[in-house]
Amino acid sequence: MARYREAVCRLCRREGVELYLKGDRCFTDKCAIKRRGYPPGQHGQRRPKHSDYGVQLREKQKAKRIYGILEKQFRNYFEKAERMKGKTGDNLLILLERRLDSVVYKLGFAPTRRESRQIVRHGHFAVNGRKVNIPSYLVRAGDTIELREKSRKIPNVNEALDAVVRKGIPPWLDLARDEFKGLVKALPVRTDIQEPIQEQLIVELYSK
Ligand code: SF4
Repeated sequence: MARYREAVCRLCRREGVELYLKGDRCFTDKCAIKRRGYPPGQHGQRRPKHSDYGVQLREKQKAKRIYGILEKQFRNYFEKAERMKGKTGDNLLILLERRLDSVVYKLGFAPTRRESRQIVRHGHFAVNGRKVNIPSYLVRAGDTIELREKSRKIPNVNEALDAVVRKGIPPWLDLARDEFKGLVKALPVRTDIQEPIQEQLIVELYSK
């Protein structure tokens, strides 16, 4: 499957905000956006001029980058969100949050979405007792997400879990740390999603 391979800190600098794509490093002075808070490239230090279209485009790019999704798949999520009841923007973010790789990240099994996608793809998780290795799998209310028995000694996973126990997890999820098991208590609502995304701008962009 296609995926983005450029240096991830460039993505934060391009969007002008921390997207937290590198785990613990993002909270240190080594964070690239703290050291060079302007867009990458030859013209990065020029004052940017943004049209309405430019602002909407940047918001869409930011959302794609936070969730690590390429254009075609993102567009598919948008079209699905449009067909659902309720606000398209809310539906879009809720669909993105329901992805298994995002849930695994939010439960604290990995320090970044990128790493969570990798461990999902490598078959380390079971959903409702059955192995699932599809990062885009959409969880439902009542699903259990469990690190499989043979995978429980992965050091990075244990470190990440210890960190999330300290930081906390979203209210729509529950974690039984000692059992390496998460529960989707309910599907998220918009107010549960803390990512810095103005979804209305994305709706306006795609509705042109
Ligand atoms: Fe973004 Fe993290 Fe890199 Fe900082 S360290 S620029 S927040 S990915």
